[in-house]
Amino acid sequence: MNEGDVPMRIAVLGGGPGGYSAAFEAARLGAAVTLVERARLGGTCLNWGCIPTKTILRSAHIVADTRHLTEFGLTGSVAGVDVPVLRARKEGVVDELVGQIESSAKRLKVDVVYGEGKLVGADELIVDLEEGGTQIVECDAVILATGSVPFLLPNIDHTLSRVWTSDEATALSEIPAQIIIIGGGVIGVEFADAYANFGSQVHVVELTPAVLPGNDKRVQREVQKALEGLGVVFHLGVAVDSVSQTGNRVTATLTDGTTLEADVVLSAPGRRPNGLNLGLAEVGIAMDRAAVKVDEFYRTSVENIYAIGDLIGGMMLAHVAEAEGECAARNAVAGLRGEAPTATIDLSTVPAAVYTEPGIGVVGSTRDGAKERGIDCVQVVMKFAGNGKALAEGRSDGFVQLVAENGTGRILGAQIVGPGAAELIQEISVPMAGGMTVSQLGHAIFGHPTVSEVIMFAAREAAEKTGTAH
Ligand code: FAD
Repeated sequence: MNEGDVPMRIAVLGGGPGGYSAAFEAARLGAAVTLVERARLGGTCLNWGCIPTKTILRSAHIVADTRHLTEFGLTGSVAGVDVPVLRARKEGVVDELVGQIESSAKRLKVDVVYGEGKLVGADELIVDLEEGGTQIVECDAVILATGSVPFLLPNIDHTLSRVWTSDEATALSEIPAQIIIIGGGVIGVEFADAYANFGSQVHVVELTPAVLPGNDKRVQREVQKALEGLGVVFHLGVAVDSVSQTGNRVTATLTDGTTLEADVVLSAPGRRPNGLNLGLAEVGIAMDRAAVKVDEFYRTSVENIYAIGDLIGGMMLAHVAEAEGECAARNAVAGLRGEAPTATIDLSTVPAAVYTEPGIGVVGSTRDGAKERGIDCVQVVMKFAGNGKALAEGRSDGFVQLVAENGTGRILGAQIVGPGAAELIQEISVPMAGGMTVSQLGHAIFGHPTVSEVIMFAAREAAEKTGTAH
C-alpha cells in the first residue's frame, strides 16, 4: 500500500454472478479482494440454473423442430434422447464458463478461497476450508452474495430419492417418463417444456389460477396453450397436499383430491434467500423476512457490510445480481475512501425472460400495472403472424405488446411472446434505458426481413395512439 492510500481489503462471500461481479469490479478499482466460495465459481446461474437449463432446452427445442419436419418438406425423426451425451454437453458448457470466471479471477488478482464462510465481525470472516482447516479473512468491507436455495415446502419430504429440486433436474441423471412439477413459475414451465419435448408425460400443479403468476394474462394464456399443445397437463388453483414414495414411484395427492403417480416429483415452488448460518444476526444485520435488508446503495444496517443478488430478494435474476454486485463494489470502495455512495440501478428497465418455445420477454410495466400507478397509457398488440421472417421460419405464434404513456410517448414496458423473445425484449429495454420514446423507436430503421420489425411497427402504432407520432 502506498503512503496516503486507504486500506481497501474487500471480502466477498459467495462466488455466483453477484459475488464474482462484485469481486472483479472491486479489483478493477484497486481493492485487494478475497472471494470466498463453498462450491464452484459461477454459483447457481452457471452450475445449477440459467446455463444448464438453457443447454437442456436447446436439445428439447431441436426435438420440437424435428416434429415439424414434414411441413418444411423434410423427412426423418429423432429416435431418442441419449442422456449421458446430453449431460456431457451440459457439463462441457458449464465447465467452459466456470473456467472463464476462474481465469478472470486470476487475471484480476482476486484471491479465491474455497470453503464455507461466515461473518465473525464487520471486518472478519471465518472460512471452513474445502481442503480442511479454517482461515480467517480480515477485511475493511464485506459484500455478502450467498444467493438463494430452493424453497422446500414443509409438507413434502425432500429426503425421498424421487423428490427432486432443480438441482437434481439439472444434474441430468435421467429423463423421467412421468413427472409431476410443483410450481408453474419460470423454473416449472421451462422444465415442463423440456421434459414434454423429450417425451415425458408432464403434470404441472400450480397454486394460483394461472401459470407464470404475476405475468400479464395474455402472456399466461399463450404459454399455457403452447405447453398444452405438447401434452402438458395443468392443475391450476390447487396445491400438492402430500407426496409418498413406494419403490421408484411417487404418488402426489392434490388438495382437490386428485391423485397423480409418476417417476419423479420436481419441487419448484420458488427459491429463498440463503441467509442462514452466515452470522448475520450475531453481527446485527437487519433482515426483511428471509432477505437481507439493504438501502438503494446495497448497504446493510452495519457499516461497511453490503449485500446483493438473490440474498436481498426482489428480482432474483442473474443479470440483476451482476449489476448489484458492481454497484456494491463501487459504493464499498467509495465508502472506504470517505466518499458518498452513488451507484444505483434502475430496475424499471431490467428485462426478464422465460425460455420456453415460444419464449417470453418482459420489461417494465404492464398496462394494468401502469394504470394502477395512475399513469395515463396506451397498449398496442402486434402479432408475429403478420411478419415475413416469422412466417418463413414457421415460428409465427405470439405477439409484441407495447405500453406507452399518453402525450409523451414514454415507453413504460413491453411483453413479448414469440420467437427469440429473450433477445427481442432487449430491443425495447435498451431504448427504454436510454429514455427513447415510441416515436423515436418507430423512426429507427430496422433490417428486413427480421422478426424485430414487429417492434418497429408496434412503436409506430403506439406513437400514433399516444399522439406523439410527429
Ligand atoms: P448464486 O448464483 O446463488 O450464488 C451464490 C453463491 O454463494 C453460490 O455459488 C454458493 O455456493 C455460494 N455460497 C453460499 N453460501 C456460502 C457460504 N456460506 N460460504 C461460501 N459460499 C457460499 N436467472 C436469470 O437471470 N436467467 C435465467 O434464465 C435463470 N434461470 C434459472 C434457472 C434455474 C433452474 C434456477 C434455479 C435459477 C435461474 N435463474 C435465472 C436465477 C439465477 O440463477 C440467480 O438469480 C442468480 O444465480 C443469483 O446470483 P447470486 O450471485 O445472487 O447467487
